Amino acid sequence: CGIVGYVGERQAQDVVIEGLRRLEYRGYDSAGIAVVDAGRIASATKAGKLANLEKILAENPLPASTTGIGHTRWATHGAPNDVNAHPHLGSTGRVALVHNGIIENFADLRARLEADDHVLLSETDTEVAAHLLELQVESGVDLTTAMQRVCQRLEGAFTLVAVDGQDPSRVVAARRNSPLVVGLGEGENFLGSDVAAFIEHTREALELGQDQVVTITREGVEVTTFDGEPAEGTRFHVDWDLSA
Ligand code: GLU
Repeated sequence: CGIVGYVGERQAQDVVIEGLRRLEYRGYDSAGIAVVDAGRIASATKAGKLANLEKILAENPLPASTTGIGHTRWATHGAPNDVNAHPHLGSTGRVALVHNGIIENFADLRARLEADDHVLLSETDTEVAAHLLELQVESGVDLTTAMQRVCQRLEGAFTLVAVDGQDPSRVVAARRNSPLVVGLGEGENFLGSDVAAFIEHTREALELGQDQVVTITREGVEVTTFDGEPAEGTRFHVDWDLSA
């Protein structure tokens, strides 16, 4: 699928949709976006091509925000409909999450959440991770620590990108057996499933290693292992010719 994350000075809706357009070849089943809006998440999702989501946003734009994530889906678990479209939210709607890949142990995690009275709305393997992340931030840790802890419980292949409605300063992502790159800007930073997500804005990039978590803020980028130990990605320069 296609994944975009942004934090900076510009309108997140514009940057995210533009990035998704460049990644659209990676998935046509649905498209969705979430931004952080004054203490909460505002989101929009729609089955089908990105144009369907763009039509909704043209009529009802999301609130102004400079922190957001987006997704175009290539369905593996659950039909390609509106309900299964990413981003998925936790029970209270505080955390929004997009996912590329397959969480192999989702059925077990889902059964445990349901035993604790969580109501999961979709058929995806993804939604469990949104609920688990939200439980962590609700317990008082920041989204970075929450992501590290949740990733330790997940099996399979995943790129995850998430935002906390109560923390507009950061977007947090993680990867295992699935691609994730960071675009390094000035006063803004980007996340993508590939560099096409941010190529219009920066050609300085960082490739994440296996089992790493990355936090982007306006000012910088911090990489750790799933255990929370400091780690480093691999810097590279993108020298594609965009006109080609
Ligand atoms: N397994 C997830 C789903 O079916 C993610 C699919 C994707 O990579 O787009 O929703």
